[in-house]
Amino acid sequence: MSEPSRKEFWLLCPVCGGKTRTRVQEDTLLVHFPLFCPKCRAVTRINYRKEHMVLCEEPDA
Ligand SMILES: [Zn+2]
Repeated sequence: MSEPSRKEFWLLCPVCGGKTRTRVQEDTLLVHFPLFCPKCRAVTRINYRKEHMVLCEEPDA
């Protein structure tokens, strides 16, 4: 009973829906995080907070 257990989640690839190798916890905060998908090899920048993942807005070219 030393450490409180936190819920953990595997982030899903927003491109193909596959499971990435990135694991977060319920209180994890990610900002402009480059999420890599080993399945489709896409890298998608995301924000993550409060158990919700949001795609980063790409700046205008
Ligand atoms: Zn993918």
